[in-house]
Amino acid sequence: MLRMPGRMRRAGVTAVFAGAAAAGFVAAGLVAALIFSPPRAFLPAAGTGAPALRIAVAQIDGAALRVSYRWREPRPAMAFRVVPGSHRARRWSVEDDGFALRAGAGVDTIVRTDGAPFAAVTLIVRPDETRPPKDYSPVAAYGEGGALVYTGHLLPLGEDGARIEARFDFQPAPGNAATAFGAHAPSLADWRSPTGAPAFVYLGPLAPRITARSAALVDPAAPAWARAEFQAVSARALDHFTAAFGDAMAIKPNLFLTAGALDEPGRMRFSGDAAPGQFQVTLEGGAWRSPSAAARDTLRLSTIHEVFHLWQHAAAPPETAHAPGWIHEGAADIVAAEAMVALGYWDGAALEGFMARSRRACAFGIEYGALAGARRRGDFRALYGCGVVIGEAAARAGGTTASAFWRDFLIMAAARGGYSEAMFYDVVAARTDRTFADAVRRFVRTPHARPETAMQALATAAAAARAGAGARPLAQGGRR
Ligand SMILES: [Zn+2]
Repeated sequence: MLRMPGRMRRAGVTAVFAGAAAAGFVAAGLVAALIFSPPRAFLPAAGTGAPALRIAVAQIDGAALRVSYRWREPRPAMAFRVVPGSHRARRWSVEDDGFALRAGAGVDTIVRTDGAPFAAVTLIVRPDETRPPKDYSPVAAYGEGGALVYTGHLLPLGEDGARIEARFDFQPAPGNAATAFGAHAPSLADWRSPTGAPAFVYLGPLAPRITARSAALVDPAAPAWARAEFQAVSARALDHFTAAFGDAMAIKPNLFLTAGALDEPGRMRFSGDAAPGQFQVTLEGGAWRSPSAAARDTLRLSTIHEVFHLWQHAAAPPETAHAPGWIHEGAADIVAAEAMVALGYWDGAALEGFMARSRRACAFGIEYGALAGARRRGDFRALYGCGVVIGEAAARAGGTTASAFWRDFLIMAAARGGYSEAMFYDVVAARTDRTFADAVRRFVRTPHARPETAMQALATAAAAARAGAGARPLAQGGRR
């Protein structure tokens, strides 16, 4: 899964990211290293001295945290974007007297019960039994009494509804250390994410395994074969995508692997959470206990999918990422599937099996409405399956692979400082023609009474575009 992190905002200063567009991206190059350079807007605002908000995160017991907020100016309330499953009402509490945590529509709010403004408040944040549905855990038990913190859910919202940029102080429990990106230290003081976006920070006894291309934090709770496979496949995928798409990682990316409950026989759940420069994977279910062909296959494909999200995040700065999920999830799936073949894990038949599964998932996911409304309906499988169907059609129409299509797409995304649905159709049209781009748009926007027929029509349109492209040089008098 990939969640575009959304905008962040300094109190009183609108954040302007130092995006690739502003830097004048050269298309001949690749997704540029400059994208992960620290956003200029997050330097302290002139004349203010202290940041508007400091958040001190202390690890008190395993994955339980004491989180203290200190504002420069008093305020009447502190609002957070809601975490599904009434998470905060169940797992967060206010340590100070005279405060209340109120759940509202879309936001959770902390206020003083007497209504007075406040400049400081301390919360106790506990991990949940299970992951919130389709969202990240604010804190998860991780690695030998450690905690994996997602800063996005600790950041309150500004008046415009965007998360406020804050400075963090992370204090692990005695004997533990804090790990985030390249940093691994007894504590992190005056810290902010080097990507300018919400990030994962690990507090605990484990040390990252640092290689040329990544810093991996691998929980011994995961089965030994899965840990070895995860490290091997992610290393190979990082090399493969660096060769294919360029070295986009100015900051060494973090890869996190852990395991939840592994007792339920036959269950195999892979949950991946991607953030700029990081992803974290949780394995759950008894099927992970032994390295069956199915478990190995899923671990490889899904890990490569998460690795590709690193390149997508690098090309699309957070504030401009309003693209629908089928674009980035479908791309991560089809590019990962092609990488499975390139890396020798799959043959052509295995790839065709994957395409067939994706077509079925797409048909299932758009049975009750257009792809454009799939996320709203909760038809998440459609985002992956139909994204693959579209990616395959776009690649075929352009006479190339999905990876080659996405290389062009990432270059344009980096040049524009982000990507959108309109840009997707622009890239399709640039590689084929407007007729085919319009066919893709109709496929996305129209409710289809017969999804299989609609997918077949898209494939036919792709073949026609391919034939048209083949004829064009002759029509222009060129030699073939
Ligand atoms: Zn994903």
